[in-house]
Amino acid sequence: MSGKRLILMGPPGGGKGTQAKRLQEKYGIVQLSTGDMLRAAVKAGTAVGKQAKEVMDAGKLVSDDLIVAMISERIDEPDCANGFILDGFPRTVPQAEALDKLLSSKGIALDKVIEVAVPDAKLIERITGRFTCAKCGEGYHDKFKQPQKAGVCDACGGTDFTRRADDNEETVTSRLKAYHDQTAPLMPFYKEKGLLEVLDGDRPMDAVTADLERVLGS
Ligand code: AMP
Repeated sequence: MSGKRLILMGPPGGGKGTQAKRLQEKYGIVQLSTGDMLRAAVKAGTAVGKQAKEVMDAGKLVSDDLIVAMISERIDEPDCANGFILDGFPRTVPQAEALDKLLSSKGIALDKVIEVAVPDAKLIERITGRFTCAKCGEGYHDKFKQPQKAGVCDACGGTDFTRRADDNEETVTSRLKAYHDQTAPLMPFYKEKGLLEVLDGDRPMDAVTADLERVLGS
């Protein structure tokens, strides 16, 4: 089925980004990660980036208005016409309400909201060990997924790797707090609408992908 419009929810480090990339490939729908958009804005030194950097470094949430404006513009791009996976958005009830309004003004609706659930105790280790290829964005982990040849990306052969500025233990604690305080209340919001599906994310990546594909169909 084409035209899927999804929200992938879950705690920081829960594997949303990795799974969204896989779904993007399988279904030909685009991954919209507000975190990636903000990191690109920070790197480019735009006004949005300047506003967001400090908040991100503290592990807090960027203002709803800024995020909603960013997503609203992005969803109008032609590559979203076939469907999209929202990754890291919405993260607060006001963002979810704004998304509802935004979608209905465009005459479109969400098909599913999927929560990839992972217990807190696992997340710190997952987050603090992760790094990505600077060239192609392939994800790695100090403990769980090293490149086959040390220092060389399996996917593109790149030799430059980066770590996110906010992937340190101190910031992770604030990010988890923001998740529990501000984002977890979205689960009942979407459950009530009959859209929520909860998957166990505390398993190998391939098992989680298989479950997602089962929920989403062909
Ligand atoms: P992520 O890559 O999704 O973990 O996001 C990294 C950081 O970007 C978060 O800790 C927030 O500071 C900010 N951010 C990303 N998405 C949102 C959002 N929907 N609302 C508020 N802040 C966000």
